[in-house]
Amino acid sequence: DTIGRNLDRAVAAWPDRPALVDAATGRRWSYAGFAAEVDRLARALLAYGVTKGDRVGIWAVNCPEWVFTQYATARIGAVLVNVNPAYRTHELGYVLRQSGVSLLIASTAYKSSDYVAMAAAVREECPGLRHTVHIGTAGWRELLAAGETVPADRTAAAQAALDCREPVNIQYTSGTTGFPKGATLSHRNILNNGYFVGELLGYTEADRVCLPVPFYHCFGMVMGNLAATSHGACVVIPAPVFDPAATLRAVRDEGCTALYGVPTMFIAELGLPDFAGYDLSSLRTGIMAGSPCPVEVMKRVVGEMHMAEVAICYGMTETSPVSTQTRRDDDLERRTATVGRVLPHLEVRVADPVTGETVPRGVPGELRTRGYSVMLGYWEDPERTAEVIDGDGWMHTGDLAVMREDGYLTITGRIKDMIIRGGENVYPREIEEFLHTHPKIADVQVVGVPDERYGEEVLACVIPRDPADPPTLEEVTAHCRGRLAHFKIPRLLWVLDSFPMTVSGKVRKVELRERFAGPDH
Ligand code: ATP
Ligand code: MG
Repeated sequence: DTIGRNLDRAVAAWPDRPALVDAATGRRWSYAGFAAEVDRLARALLAYGVTKGDRVGIWAVNCPEWVFTQYATARIGAVLVNVNPAYRTHELGYVLRQSGVSLLIASTAYKSSDYVAMAAAVREECPGLRHTVHIGTAGWRELLAAGETVPADRTAAAQAALDCREPVNIQYTSGTTGFPKGATLSHRNILNNGYFVGELLGYTEADRVCLPVPFYHCFGMVMGNLAATSHGACVVIPAPVFDPAATLRAVRDEGCTALYGVPTMFIAELGLPDFAGYDLSSLRTGIMAGSPCPVEVMKRVVGEMHMAEVAICYGMTETSPVSTQTRRDDDLERRTATVGRVLPHLEVRVADPVTGETVPRGVPGELRTRGYSVMLGYWEDPERTAEVIDGDGWMHTGDLAVMREDGYLTITGRIKDMIIRGGENVYPREIEEFLHTHPKIADVQVVGVPDERYGEEVLACVIPRDPADPPTLEEVTAHCRGRLAHFKIPRLLWVLDSFPMTVSGKVRKVELRERFAGPDH
């Protein structure tokens, strides 16, 4: 169904249960109160001329108004365009133009970020942008006041006219392998995905979900907000941007039962000097996603943070996002070695990337997914859409995976990162894991670079533990000899202080390859 009608059902079932808490300011809303705010904003958007199919941008740090905007746009059939709050004018202008945003809702200021000045700077290059409204300003109050003049039944009429297969959201991919692409997602795509993620976590109206992850990303808005509200659970916002101490305070003070994060967030929380002083006994579950979790971190999350049922998810923006998830009773091995198994009502298979044939269990290949979660397409880009969704509806993820005998999947890397050296397939992840055991290496990325003789050669890009004493190529190859097959042993070494990263915290291997080929290394 549509997100708006689903919210109406939650309000009917749990009108007085808590829906949203802003821990930073102490503001809180019941389901009935939350829906009233959503409706107020929906009327305001109608008053400003937003109609079905129009794109409304949101460029804001986490706050209740972000969530109101998510549901208000869905209610009237507008398409929400999520803009990363870390974006600056160049990226903001690109996203607003590419998706044709006519109304932008933005933060005012956060720390050194002046969203008012930056939004003003891109106005001229975005001719389709008719309104920019900054949250909490006079402009925001004017917007809401304009909504008062719109009859209440107009939002209901707009909602009644919607079909769940219509677009509700454009989310940009992280840009790990190139420029970000705008995945267009329908109500059916993301509401179902949020619902089943919540279902597998066992959410009920008794759950309180602490979300230190950004709402602009599907982790926050689908796996967080939609998973919670489709089961009557409460969303708790600990802080506008990630703050480990504020997160643990919110868990303790609000009695949260679930906590989300990427592994580095959990590492920061566990590393707080006063970590042991927080009572986190209310926690039961949560989600760790985005990148693989080190075993030691998982052990502490399960043991010291009481998250015995924490789930690992795998997915991508183009699939709403989640395709596989671990289950409540999975053991530590499954929670660390795999990304879980397929969600209900979806299909996954591992295919030979060239022939497309499904490969046997245990053999690596490209992970392909099919079902309700596959996006409508890339926004106004049918050619690139056709490159990733085939005629049978399978999404080609570009990720390499192995399906184990028990149906659980292991992600082994990305096809684009796979190195073909002298006809041998080399999986960088395997070499990276091995090189982590070298005492002089703090972090490592392995990439393929062009080579006349072998086609590609293996390059290890290394951040040394001690910058004054970096490892030499001889030391690295000596470490590998006899323990890795000869064709996997790096023939090239590059010592750096840091890796180029995407805003969602992934290493851009493309850029490493480009920079290695350029003059600056
Ligand atoms: P782009 O498509 O623009 O190059 P991206 O693929 O990094 O960027 P996202 O959609 O944010 O953009 O990320 C999806 C990708 O993240 C997946 O294709 C996969 O490579 C990786 N990923 C997601 N979950 C996991 C996980 N649990 N473990 C390992 N990798 C994961
Ligand atoms: Mg991708």
